[in-house]
Formats: sequence, structure tokens, C-alpha cells
Amino acid sequence: MKIVLLGPPGAGKGTQAEKISRKYKLQYIDTGGILRKNENTKTKKGTPHKYIKKGILVPDYIVIEFILPFIKRAAKQNFILDGFPRSLKQVKLLEKITAIDIALYLEVNQKELIERISGRWICRNCDITYHIKLKPPKKEGICDVCGEKLTQREDDRPKIIRKRTRVFNKSLKPVIKYYEKRSILKRIDANRELKEVWKDIQEIVNKIK
Ligand SMILES: [Zn+2]
Repeated sequence: MKIVLLGPPGAGKGTQAEKISRKYKLQYIDTGGILRKNENTKTKKGTPHKYIKKGILVPDYIVIEFILPFIKRAAKQNFILDGFPRSLKQVKLLEKITAIDIALYLEVNQKELIERISGRWICRNCDITYHIKLKPPKKEGICDVCGEKLTQREDDRPKIIRKRTRVFNKSLKPVIKYYEKRSILKRIDANRELKEVWKDIQEIVNKIK
């Protein structure tokens, strides 16, 4: 089974992707994590770093250069893909590599997104994301795994979130349409609690299995 997980940053994709990966034994390909870990790696047209820092969408050609090798390797098995594709060009490239069984679309409104994202803290050491309300660390401000101090990402400020959401939605629209036409798009109301969203996801995935 091959799943793509779609939705704006802050929709809870990372948390749900981890759960899906564990329960259904799918390899988890985390586009955002891969880009952040390699943000200073040079490509012909620059590094991902400056885009991540400004909170703007990393351009297609950079994302593609970083992610495609991971997808090609993973395509021999089953996977859950988070953060890719998010443009029609990326959809087409993905189709060339492998067929997708389900596109799960986590829909969230902007007000909810801002509340969520501004409560987000990360451990730069382990690349784990925490949240004041939704996924608090055991000890405030400290990573559960390695004990490092948690920090906030620059691109998690409200002004940047609004801009990012706008750009994101524009780019994602044709992707949604494409999967809708192929009848593999499943919309999920992700304004609700993680537990509720997880329940819906399992119902959908269990039917496909
Ligand atoms: Zn850590």
C-alpha cells in the first residue's frame, strides 16, 4: 500500500504519518524533515535553507532533487509519503515512479492552523516536534529523547504562517483535483482532535487494505 498525505503545515501530518507508518508497517518518507536535515546541502540553484528560513515554499526543483531518490528507493516496498507531492509537476513525477493507492487530505482552517503552529516546539538534535497542548514534552522546554532545550522554528510565526498557507493552498489545489479525478482522494476534517482524525484515517485505510 502506498499513501500520500496532503494538507497544510500544521494539519498534524507528521503525527498521523508516524501512526500510520507504525500500524500498517509502511516506510515513512518525511519531506520536511529531509529538507531540514539537508538544508545546507548545495544544489545547482541554491540550498533549501533560505526558503525554510523565510517560511516560503521550497521550489519544486530543489524538493524534487532531494526527495526523488528517497521515493525511488522506498517504492519497492510500501510507504507513507508526507509533504510530497504538493504541485502538479511533483504529482506527475511521482506517477512515473509508482502508483499511489490513497491520497489522504487533512483539511484545516487558517485560524486553527495559527493556534496550533504557534504552540509548536522542536528539538533540533532529534528533529522531533512537540506542542504545548497537543503533544507536550514530559518536562517543559526539554526534549524527552535527548534532553536538549527545545526551540521554535522561525517559520512558525503567525505572519509567516498566513503567507505560507496562501502559497501552499494555491499550489496544492491542482494536486487535490488530480487525485479527486482518480477517485483516490479522501478528505478528512482535521480541525478536530488528533484522536478523532486518527480514527477516521484507520477506517479509510482498513477498507483499502
Ligand atoms: Zn532531542
